[in-house]
Amino acid sequence: MNPSPSALPRLLYVEDEAETAAIVTEVLGVEYLIDHARTGEAGLELALGRRYDVMVVDRRLPGMSGVELLEAVRTAHITTPAIMLTALGTVDDRVSGLDAGADDYLLKPFDFAELRARLRAMRRGRGPGTRREIGDWLFSPAALALYAPDGGRIPLTQAESDLLELLTSSPEHVFSRDEIVASVFPGGSAGTVDAYVHYVRRKSTPEIIDTVRARGYRSGMPR
Ligand code: CA
Repeated sequence: MNPSPSALPRLLYVEDEAETAAIVTEVLGVEYLIDHARTGEAGLELALGRRYDVMVVDRRLPGMSGVELLEAVRTAHITTPAIMLTALGTVDDRVSGLDAGADDYLLKPFDFAELRARLRAMRRGRGPGTRREIGDWLFSPAALALYAPDGGRIPLTQAESDLLELLTSSPEHVFSRDEIVASVFPGGSAGTVDAYVHYVRRKSTPEIIDTVRARGYRSGMPR
């Protein structure tokens, strides 16, 4: 049985290229109720006018850019999770989207399955507005991702994200292995904690999590 249209999550899509917009709207229209805007100005008006569950914003738009649009949306305290579509993969392009308040980015041309998976992850995530800095890194529990200082994206599993979410919830606090097991790995052991700390460090940087000898772990301060 198909869900009724009103039960579908609402997606704001801002894209000026007609061909791309037509395909994306068709593909995502199965899962989302889509409002499509062709300019940043129109997108901003929609974003300010009603609540959306998720936003997909092209970076390059005529007039107001996707970056300017997101900055304006975040300035208005709208925390709806957002993916920025960017045609350019330079450090500046990746970082400016994240700096503007995107929770995730996707390089064009992208795979539709990837876009749908990213959107689903963001909607499962722990809610918007939870991005956290870990030193010069950025952690987005909503996107299940860590971003390196150059904007490089490192996907996290739910358990890895949960571990970082706990540690960054109180960055000064040293969490004992028992505390971490109780919050993140019920039924697990100290060894489970050590294994996940290792996974997260291996895929990002060793400094992302500090080991405090004989006590436990704490959010790191990588540069
Ligand atoms: Ca464009």
